[in-house]
Amino acid sequence: MAFMMPLCAINAAVPVSAQSDYDAQFLTWPTYNGEDLELTVKDNITHFRLWSPSADEAVVNLYDNGNTGAPYATLNMKYEPATGTWHTAVPEKLYGKFYTFRIKHNDKWLDETPGVWAKAVGVNGKRAAIIDFNTTNPAGWNEDKGPEVKNFSDVIVYEMHHRDMSMHPSSGIANKGKFLALTEPGTTSPEGEKTGIDHLKELGVTHVHILPSYDYNSVDEANLWTNTYNWGYDPLNYNAPEGSYSTNPSDPATRVREMKEMVKALHDAGIGVIMDVVYNHTAENDGSNFELTAPGYYHRHRNDGSYSDASGCGNETASDRKQMHDYIVNSVKYWADEYHIDGFRFDLMAIHDTETMNDVAAELKKINPSIFVYGEGWTAGDSPLAIERRALKENVSKMKDIAVFSDDLRDAVKGHYTDAADRGFATGKPGLEETVKIGIVAATPHPQVNFKNGNNSKFPYASSPEMIVNYVSCHDDLCLTDKLHKSMEGEPEENMLSAAKLAQTIVFTSQGTPFMFAGEEVFRDKKGVHNSYNQPDSINAIDWSNKAKYRDLFNYYKGLTELRKAHPAFRMTNADDIAKNLVFDKIDSKKTPNLISYSLKNHANGDSWKEIKVVFNGASKPQEVNIKGGNWKIVAAEGLISPNGGLGLFNGGKITLPAYSALILAQE
Ligand code: CA
Repeated sequence: MAFMMPLCAINAAVPVSAQSDYDAQFLTWPTYNGEDLELTVKDNITHFRLWSPSADEAVVNLYDNGNTGAPYATLNMKYEPATGTWHTAVPEKLYGKFYTFRIKHNDKWLDETPGVWAKAVGVNGKRAAIIDFNTTNPAGWNEDKGPEVKNFSDVIVYEMHHRDMSMHPSSGIANKGKFLALTEPGTTSPEGEKTGIDHLKELGVTHVHILPSYDYNSVDEANLWTNTYNWGYDPLNYNAPEGSYSTNPSDPATRVREMKEMVKALHDAGIGVIMDVVYNHTAENDGSNFELTAPGYYHRHRNDGSYSDASGCGNETASDRKQMHDYIVNSVKYWADEYHIDGFRFDLMAIHDTETMNDVAAELKKINPSIFVYGEGWTAGDSPLAIERRALKENVSKMKDIAVFSDDLRDAVKGHYTDAADRGFATGKPGLEETVKIGIVAATPHPQVNFKNGNNSKFPYASSPEMIVNYVSCHDDLCLTDKLHKSMEGEPEENMLSAAKLAQTIVFTSQGTPFMFAGEEVFRDKKGVHNSYNQPDSINAIDWSNKAKYRDLFNYYKGLTELRKAHPAFRMTNADDIAKNLVFDKIDSKKTPNLISYSLKNHANGDSWKEIKVVFNGASKPQEVNIKGGNWKIVAAEGLISPNGGLGLFNGGKITLPAYSALILAQE
C-alpha cells in the first residue's frame, strides 16, 4: 500500500520520457463531463451515473447506515456507450441513505467504492452519503464572500494545520483540532494573548492556507479518542471534508456544515481560505476509488503496466487524460462554489500538465477572479509525462494566473533543506547573495541579476511577480525555528531571533507573494522533527504561551504585514516595473559577503514613499553601509520595525547594521 513520504522539494533534473505505450490504450475511451456524475437528486428522483467504460457490469448498493450492515437494495446499472457511464435511478429522494458502487471488470467483481464524486460520506469515507446540501449552510451563507484580491502579490499566506493551531492547552480554544476552532472569538493563552482567529486578525495575514482538509485516509474517524495526527497528504475522497476535523464524523452533514462555518468565520474576519489539494496521487493504488471505478485510467503507468511514481507515494495521477483533467477542474470548481474557497495550493503540481493547470485557473476565475492558485513546481520522482508538459516551476511562464513556490529564496536565505546544519544568507553563509536577489526580484528578468550565478534556477523563469510565492519555510522539512537551532547551534537564542526576523524581512519585502508557516511568529518549533506528518501533537502543536514569551518577535511579524499592506512598492505587479524601479546598490560580495542593498524608486507601484532603501546584513558580525544623503525615515533597524517610519530620522552617511539584521529607510 502506498504511503506517506516527505513531500519535500525534490527538484532534480529527470530524464525526458514520453507517455508510456501502456497508457496509450486509455486515450480512446469515451469521456463524460456531465454535472450529474455519480449522484443527483432531482424532481423526486435519485439518479446514479458512474463513469466506467471498461466495466462488464455495474451495481449500486443502498444502505441505511454509513459503515455497518448489509445493503437494503442492490440495483443493476445500465451502460450508455456514448458517455461511458452506467445509470440507474430510484423514484424518490433518498436523503439520509448511503451508497456504494461495484463494478465487474475482467470477470471479477472489484471491492465496493463510494465512487470518485462522493460529496458527503459516512465515517471513514467508505460509503457515500445522500444529503440535502441546502441544510448545511450556516446563517448568512448566501451573502458570504471572501476578500477581494486585486493582485496576487497583495496576498499574505499563513499555512496552518487544524491541530497545530488549536490542540495545545494554551490555545484556550474549546473545539481543539476541529474546523470550528477558527470560529471561536475571544480565545486567549494563559498569559492573556489572543489565539485562534483573533490571533490571525492581530497578525494581519490576508489568507490562511489550510493543510489537506478533504477526506483523507490515515486517521481513523471512528476512534478519534486515539488523537492520531496526520498532515493528510493521503487522499481518499477528494470532494468531501475530512471527518476527524468535525465534531461528529458519523453524521455526513456535520463535517460539511462545520467546514462552511469555519470559512464563514474567516471571511467575516476579512481572511480568505486556501485549500491544499493533492490530486497528484491517491493513498492507495489498486484500492483507490479511481482504480475501483475505472481500472487503469486515472493513474499513469510504466510500459510494464506498473504504477509510475512521480509522487514518491506509490503512484501518480494522469491529468493529461481527458476524464482526469475534467475531474481536477470540476473538483476545484466544486470547492469554490459550494464552500466559497478562495484559493488552491497544488501539491507536487508538476505531476499535472500545464494545460490542466491553465484550465483550472481559467475556470476558477469565472467563479471568482480573486481565487489564487499556486503550487509546488516540481515532482518527487520521474514521470511518463514529458518535461515540457509538466507544470514545473521552470514552465510557470507558460501558464496564466498560476504561481509557484520559490525554492531559490527558501534555500538561499536559511540554508539548504537537505542539510540541517547548513547555513544560509541570513545566518552567515557567504556566496548566496545572487540567489537571494533572484528571490527579491521574484525570478523575473532583471538587468542587475545574473541568474547563471543562482544556486537553483539558472534563468528568469517568471515573466511576472504574480507567478512567485516567496517563503523560507512551510510544513515540510525543519521549520524556521528548528533550522535556526540546528544551524546556529552554540549561538545565543538572541541571535536566532535576529536571524528569524531578518529571514522573514527578506520574504515580506521581496516581490511576489509572501508565505509563512503558522506559529513562526511566536517562534514555534517542531522539536527538531523535519518530517512531522504523523508525529503526535506534542511535536506539532503550537504552544501559545510562546506568544507572551516572544512578544517582540510577534510584534515584528505584525509590523511586516502592516508594512507590506501599506506600501505597494513591495507588491509590484509586472516585471518591467521591477526592472525599472528596483535598483541594487553595487556591493562586491567577495569582499563584503552577506550584504545586499537595494532601492525601490520612483514611488514604485503608486507608493506614497518616493524611495525605499532595503539593506540586509546576514553576516555574523556588524557591517557598515553608506547611505546617500536625504531625509530618511527609519522604518526598520536593529530588530525593530515601525511601518510608518517612526523609529527616527537619518540624513544619510555611514550606518552600521548589527549581525543578522535588516535596515529599511524611506523618503517621502
Ligand atoms: Ca478521513
